[in-house]
Amino acid sequence: MKLVLIGAPAAGKGTQAARLVRHYGIAHISTGDMLREEVAKGTDLGNQAKSIMAAGGLVSDEIIIAMVKERIQRDDCKKGFILDGFPRTVVQAEKLEDMVALDHVVYINAPDEVMLERLTARESCPKCGATYNKLFMPAKTAGVCDACGEKLTQRKDDTPEAGKARIKTFHEQSEPLVGYYGKKGILFEVDGTQAVDEITKAIIAGLDR
Ligand SMILES: [Zn+2]
Repeated sequence: MKLVLIGAPAAGKGTQAARLVRHYGIAHISTGDMLREEVAKGTDLGNQAKSIMAAGGLVSDEIIIAMVKERIQRDDCKKGFILDGFPRTVVQAEKLEDMVALDHVVYINAPDEVMLERLTARESCPKCGATYNKLFMPAKTAGVCDACGEKLTQRKDDTPEAGKARIKTFHEQSEPLVGYYGKKGILFEVDGTQAVDEITKAIIAGLDR
């Protein structure tokens, strides 16, 4: 089961990815997490990425693709994987296609207003990293982390202004992927305005069909 997950910011990609990983026993590949890991471990890739980011640049397609290529060959990917955060552009999708044949691309679709509302309702714990959403995954006590009792905060990129900019970037850069994978006949679109459990059920039913 080789999957790609597409969705605008706050479409619920992370939550659904975690559930699909459990359901299918496949590996979760988040390129954002991988970059942070490589930097922390001080690998060649990590050092390259670090100097680019320090200079305010974007890590190139070549670096990301090399990282993904190495990652999908590891043992935990034998049963498959789910790619989260990659590809972001059609150019990246074409490069991915040269490396591996995907089974499905899941697109979690939701109107901009819904995503913006969810995005600005997100909170996280600065101490233990737990994440919450005031709309559908609230902390037991408002504003306080269930796990460690720390006061919850909002990420800078989850403010309404930053959220609008991220959604715009998604439309410009990543939405063309929907057409790209649609033409290849491997796109499965799911209504992201449903409850989290309903979205998971719809995805699994769609992929197992
Ligand atoms: Zn916490």
